[in-house]
Amino acid sequence: MLSGKMTRDPADSSPSRIAAARRVVIKIGSALLVDRASNRLDAPWFESLVEDIAGLRQRGQEVLVVSSGAIALGRRHLGLRTGPLRLEESQAAAAAGQVQLAHAWQEALGARRIPAAQVLLTLGDTEQRRRYLNARGTLETLLALGAVPVINENDTVATEEIRYGDNDRLAARVAQMISADCLVLLSDTTGLHTADPARDPDATLVPEVRAVTPEIEAMAGASATDVGSGGMITKVMAGRIALSAGCHMVIASGRVRHPLAALEAGAECTWFVASSSPARVRKQWIAGALQPSGELVVDAGAAAALAQGKSLLPAGVVRVNGRFERGDLVLVRDTAGRVLARGLSAYDSTEAARIIGLRSSMIEQVLGYRGREELIHRNDLAMVETHG
Ligand code: GLU
Repeated sequence: MLSGKMTRDPADSSPSRIAAARRVVIKIGSALLVDRASNRLDAPWFESLVEDIAGLRQRGQEVLVVSSGAIALGRRHLGLRTGPLRLEESQAAAAAGQVQLAHAWQEALGARRIPAAQVLLTLGDTEQRRRYLNARGTLETLLALGAVPVINENDTVATEEIRYGDNDRLAARVAQMISADCLVLLSDTTGLHTADPARDPDATLVPEVRAVTPEIEAMAGASATDVGSGGMITKVMAGRIALSAGCHMVIASGRVRHPLAALEAGAECTWFVASSSPARVRKQWIAGALQPSGELVVDAGAAAALAQGKSLLPAGVVRVNGRFERGDLVLVRDTAGRVLARGLSAYDSTEAARIIGLRSSMIEQVLGYRGREELIHRNDLAMVETHG
């Protein structure tokens, strides 16, 4: 089921990686969005960025934004002093500033007829299975509806221990969650340098990273800046997450108008180049890492459909074995007991047992809500090649 298209061409030219991506996550640092002196939104710059985003949408690309800036905007709104804030003060500032931030995005995207949607996430939402599935489902639906999700950390409920604290890693987790092919980290640095350029005149830009080695980590440690809450360390950590998810990542300066267009025109930056693709990584994960918690036995028609790369519909399933939750891994067997595939079930075992053999249009009537049409979506299936 892994077609050649999913394999990455290592020779593809770097500026075209953004243009070639189907789904792009763009993370924008506070220092770009909010003018430091006035703590107000830098409107002309913001407009130029949104124009670039609209350009991507026009080319048919899906875009998600991870936008910082809530705390910086909220500070001014609440009249908080300058200098470091206590955690509760940051959370209060974020609560006030998030309203303004979301409003600015809605206005700017709305002016270009793009619906904006606010999504606030915490660390737990990307790590706990159930919440993860819900967050992913919502983001997928928003993208399918043509919206641009505008994401930030849910600072109000995130305590010290359960915070990302930086939107670099949050953005990488989001990219991983929704199988994005490209993650763009815009901040006020041009990329990863061999040493801190502010301290070392010999520091040079690293144009390309293919693996996050201890050497790469050491460069980030030496060049950590006070920009935003993350610095270079969290960007390299984001790079590690992105690469493991088959997602290309770029660290680039947003200190220019039209920062995405500038990148596509070949501006200086550091590319973290993935050797796999998100679809391949996901299938490999399904094929290997998890323990199955149940089984679905399918009829010959469904088996043939699966072999053609189609999703598994309830109609083709004749039996449900074992107990499993929504999102758990199950084995798909034919009636002779052969394992055909492994996949993530869109329903738990009790619900699955009630809808098997039925047409998908009956699901709502039987379960009382409108769930997915597929019992296992084809993106969540990995065929097992044991017999020819
Ligand atoms: N969530 C924070 C804010 O909106 C930003 C965190 C970060 O920039 O890494 O202000």
